Amino acid sequence: MASTLPPIRDLAYIAGVLEADGCFTEKHGTPVVVVGMTDEDVVRRLQRMTGSGKVNGPYLNRAGHNVKPMWHWSVDRQHEAYALMVAVYGFLGERRQQRISEILKRWIARPIPNKFKSRCNEGHALVGDNLYLEGTKRRCRTCRASAARRLRARRAVA
Ligand SMILES: [Zn+2]
Repeated sequence: MASTLPPIRDLAYIAGVLEADGCFTEKHGTPVVVVGMTDEDVVRRLQRMTGSGKVNGPYLNRAGHNVKPMWHWSVDRQHEAYALMVAVYGFLGERRQQRISEILKRWIARPIPNKFKSRCNEGHALVGDNLYLEGTKRRCRTCRASAARRLRARRAVA
């Protein structure tokens, strides 16, 4: 996670670069911010200012002659990308603001992975004696017991 938020003037600078050469996108349903440009110093400066993401490059463009190599700054840790998107949002134009809103809406609405759930689908707390493991999956003992009861009841009727 990004340790501290950059000062306002740095945010304005970062937003300016993102408006021009940034890409707000998603990878496996999580937010990602990427900047691709030929100025290595600018890309490294973004990384330094935010304390987030990685710098990769140089990437050579084989298609053209006399084309400068590209440098990428990519912020793909979801919480860092989220923090960056929120931090620069107010500085950006409408099109990019709308893009960020869509990405963050989807990210916030995504299903929570089983390993982070504190309750089962029926709302029982997945803690203490009620929690058991099936392989790496966390299961609810209360639900297992009531499923067993339903099964016995069906057999008794048949
Ligand atoms: Zn349950």
